[in-house]
Amino acid sequence: MEEKNITNQNPEGQDQSQGKGGNKQEGRKKFYYNRYRRRKFPHVNKQASESPQKKTSFKKVSIVVPLYNEEESLRPLVSEIKKAMRGLSCDYEVLLVDDGSNDGSLKIIKEIVKQDQKFRYISFRKNYGKSAALQMGFKNISGDAVITMDADLQDDPNEIPNLIMKLEEGYDLVSGWKKKRFDPFIKRQSSKFFNFVTKVMSGIKIHDFNCGLKAYRREVVKNISVYGELHRYMPVLAGWQGYRISEIVVRHHPRRYGKTKFGISRFFKGFIDLLTVMFVTRYVQRPMHLFGFLGALAFLVGFIVNGYLSYEWLSGKSLSNRPLLLFGILLIIVGVQFFSVGLLGELMVHNAHDDKIYDIKDRN
Ligand code: UDP
Ligand code: MG
Repeated sequence: MEEKNITNQNPEGQDQSQGKGGNKQEGRKKFYYNRYRRRKFPHVNKQASESPQKKTSFKKVSIVVPLYNEEESLRPLVSEIKKAMRGLSCDYEVLLVDDGSNDGSLKIIKEIVKQDQKFRYISFRKNYGKSAALQMGFKNISGDAVITMDADLQDDPNEIPNLIMKLEEGYDLVSGWKKKRFDPFIKRQSSKFFNFVTKVMSGIKIHDFNCGLKAYRREVVKNISVYGELHRYMPVLAGWQGYRISEIVVRHHPRRYGKTKFGISRFFKGFIDLLTVMFVTRYVQRPMHLFGFLGALAFLVGFIVNGYLSYEWLSGKSLSNRPLLLFGILLIIVGVQFFSVGLLGELMVHNAHDDKIYDIKDRN
């Protein structure tokens, strides 16, 4: 609320018709106001108007903001986005996706969209999760470049022009890297570990997979679907589809209002999701390559073990006290199971085969 008042009191454009003394007083007021604002809200220091407007070849930037119970942050967020977008030469729209908030967020959103036509909203009946909100946003954008950002004022809208300029260099996805982040210690450390494992397993060389602030070319978000909690892996999913990925360092801020919507459980779920992503990106079109390989391996080892035991039995030794026998049988059964799962997978892929999965970059 405090921030709202301050932004509304912006002295720019205030009454200039006073006499000389009035101007002096105004100047002093402006000086103290700016100093107060710089100290109190360091993230609004760098106003877009301070730096020259960046020229972009994109016609329209769509900003998708997923939000769940962020009532206090919404108004300051909107004014910061508006200010930041003055730093970019193209048109823009903002899509606020309310993920089933049960505080006053929706009411505020409705007021916001009434005041400014660039703002639109979608509101879910219940809380489906950030990935669902992003996916619904992606489905409804009309720009040729897309920005995603969190609603909690941790992501800085002043980075939007920088992300767009990086896209201009020819990248399809530019991820923010919160190099200096303002999160609790435990979250910072577990995030480091999570990013390291994801980087090693996926081969995508960026530092911060889970940054809310990202920029995409339109075709990326139209071709990749995020569900469950896979939003963390957009760079992995996109990278595996052949899109060019890059990152830039972005400014990050502590959460000002409300609290985080993700507990520590995110990291356990995160790793399960990583396995899903690895499977989906590498093997979904050829399940037999994974299951067939594992099945054949288990079967072969089981066969060798039991072949050896059969040889012993034939040469007159008793097998009554040989646990190895059970192990061999287990391996053979598991091998057959893996093989069958692989065959069923192939059958499903074969029946559902559809050329939508091939992402065409260009044609004449
Ligand atoms: N969010 C959402 N649906 C959810 C949880 C979160 O839309 O079920 C939004 C949330 O309002 C915020 C963004 O996703 O705009 C990131 O959430 P949060 O700040 O809690 O995550 P953290 O910064 O702690 O990673
Ligand atoms: Mg946050």
